[in-house]
Amino acid sequence: MTVAICPGTFDPVTNGHLDVIERAASIFDTVIVSILVNSEKRTLFTTDERLEMLRMACGHLPNVSVDHFEGLLVDYVRARGAHVVVRGLRAVSDFEYELTMALMNRKLDPTVETMYIMASQEYSFLSSSIVKEVARLGGDIRCMVPAALADRIIARCKGEG
Ligand code: ADP
Repeated sequence: MTVAICPGTFDPVTNGHLDVIERAASIFDTVIVSILVNSEKRTLFTTDERLEMLRMACGHLPNVSVDHFEGLLVDYVRARGAHVVVRGLRAVSDFEYELTMALMNRKLDPTVETMYIMASQEYSFLSSSIVKEVARLGGDIRCMVPAALADRIIARCKGEG
């Protein structure tokens, strides 16, 4: 059975994330979407809120589960019995960071392979940060995030929820 881990911050989950998760779920037997809990990084949504939103967004995918972890990704991957990490690649700007992380993770554990799914064209401009910024300024982000989460995300970005 092939188990893949999709790690990220998901602050909040966007349709771009979901596209990568759905495509990973069609390739691997099991996909674990896991929030990296990093106490150094300030987030708009708490870990519990991000877990809940990811569970809602992935509810239609039977082979996808949602989790969180702290510490080294390779340790977590091993602990979950997986060998593959799946990340999304949007643009050349993602490449340098992703290459560094993939090579470092390979150094730490050569049995863990990182694989990339190219962002779909319609989501290649989409990131959690730009969604938060646009929503804060009153722009329409409804087509950029899962429909069931849009009101909640808009309210928080505007400081109302
Ligand atoms: P991180 O802080 O680890 O980059 P993110 O939550 O921003 O976490 O992203 C998680 C993963 O989803 C990363 O691999 C990122 O490249 C990918 N991703 C984010 N937005 C998109 C998108 N619009 N299309 C494809 N992949 C994306």
